[in-house]
Amino acid sequence: MPIYEYEPIDYDCLICGGRFEALQGIHDEPLPFCPTCGLDCRRVISKASIKIATPTDADRAAKKGLTTFRRAEKGVWEKVAGPGVDVIQGSAEEIASVEAEKKTSKPKKLELP
Ligand SMILES: [Zn+2]
Repeated sequence: MPIYEYEPIDYDCLICGGRFEALQGIHDEPLPFCPTCGLDCRRVISKASIKIATPTDADRAAKKGLTTFRRAEKGVWEKVAGPGVDVIQGSAEEIASVEAEKKTSKPKKLELP
């Protein structure tokens, strides 16, 4: 479950030091009040909660300057992460060569335009 961070809307909370965290399910409603002191509060998107997300292989590859694509449909690849174009559209010959390549175990190397 993700940890959400809250801050009081109009006041400084004297009990919890202005901010508190709550462990909640993704589909849970945001807390309307601080559970400690009862002041109105709102959920804030914290950098800490982003860090909790486990980086995918694509994100790790992107940090090394590599671009990861996934096949969206026949002959079309969408970028998952990394630099470069967002979509690769293969030509008929390229699609045919990918189909032929599937018979081998080697992954097809995509060449960027
Ligand atoms: Zn509080």
